Amino acid sequence: MADTVAQINEWVEENREECIRFLQDLISIPSPSNEEGDVARFLVGKMNEFNYTTARVDALNDVMGTIKGTGGGRSFLLNGHIDHVPIGDMVDPYIGKIMDGEELGDHGEVIYGRAACDMKGAVAAMVLAGRVMNELGIKLKGDYKVAGVALEEVGGAGTMSTIIDSQFLADVVLIGEATDMQLALGHRGSMKFGVVVHGRACHASAPERGINALYKAMKMITKVKDELAPSTPVHPIYGKPSMTVTQITVSPEAFNVVPEVCRFWIDCRNHPEFTAWDLYQSLNGIIDELKADDSKFDATVIPTSLINERTFSGFYTDPEEHPVVGEAVEAITESYREPRKGIWTFATDGRIYAHLGIPVIGFGPGEEEYAHTQKDHVRVQDYLDTIKVYAGLACRICGVA
Ligand SMILES: [Zn+2]
Repeated sequence: MADTVAQINEWVEENREECIRFLQDLISIPSPSNEEGDVARFLVGKMNEFNYTTARVDALNDVMGTIKGTGGGRSFLLNGHIDHVPIGDMVDPYIGKIMDGEELGDHGEVIYGRAACDMKGAVAAMVLAGRVMNELGIKLKGDYKVAGVALEEVGGAGTMSTIIDSQFLADVVLIGEATDMQLALGHRGSMKFGVVVHGRACHASAPERGINALYKAMKMITKVKDELAPSTPVHPIYGKPSMTVTQITVSPEAFNVVPEVCRFWIDCRNHPEFTAWDLYQSLNGIIDELKADDSKFDATVIPTSLINERTFSGFYTDPEEHPVVGEAVEAITESYREPRKGIWTFATDGRIYAHLGIPVIGFGPGEEEYAHTQKDHVRVQDYLDTIKVYAGLACRICGVA
């Protein structure tokens, strides 16, 4: 195995300019969510050029490429989304400029552009890892599969489609979302709850005649922020839940009317010891307290996550239960260096595979803090090293024939 890894690493360094250009080309094709067609066709063309056994695009613009194994090994699927968030105020978001990372608060040479970090760097590395193995004549026993999925930033329909419609699955799944070259084994769950606060509308020139629902909502928001959020329990793996109010609306929406209704929404990233039911009860507890204090306070919790997510929507691939985690650590160490084990702060499509019982591991270039920002970039050397890691992991997990 050491020889194979050395060959792979050498190939990447010898072809580094071409690998860098491949990522720049990928960044140069805009692919905001719902507009992934061009980038999907580009990737399928490349997979064919790199001698993937099959490569196709489905109706949602998900790309699925497979290098068929010789048989008898575990299959390995690498998932990365090809859509990206809006460009915002980014300057030259689609050039894929090579620049000094210092200008962005980083170090070393970086590739700057929308989706460099989230997550065309990883997608390019997945596709190129297949190319490296094909060019070096490395035959895997298990299948090597790359899913470049659409619509991740807007909910995950792309990954769902590759699973439900195409049965594009494997024995082990890797998610390439940014881990800053460490090993991620899961993330917290994601919950959304709304609260409707009821008041009484009146002319804004005489506010004392009504009940201002926005003022009442402020009381509850303050309690959520200052009392409930800090009091949630810490979990040994997932840490502390996050909880924050993200949206607020009033009705009627008029500058000269005291609002009758105010709705606000809470985003909460939870763990199995702080469930949707716990949050639902806590919010109702706050409402009861406020009512006891103020006879005019009236609010109702909209239990969105109680209805949609009865189960915990996060996951954790426990190294004790899944020996593949230990194998991945060894393979990454051999190809690159020993990774730390941790979890992502945000949610990924990994949850969808994990809930099917498939062990999911995460490794990708780029830092979480640059995703979705104007400083979207990836370090050049991390990107190149990720190609090595993905090919090394494939050799270990699928087995070399
Ligand atoms: Zn992402």
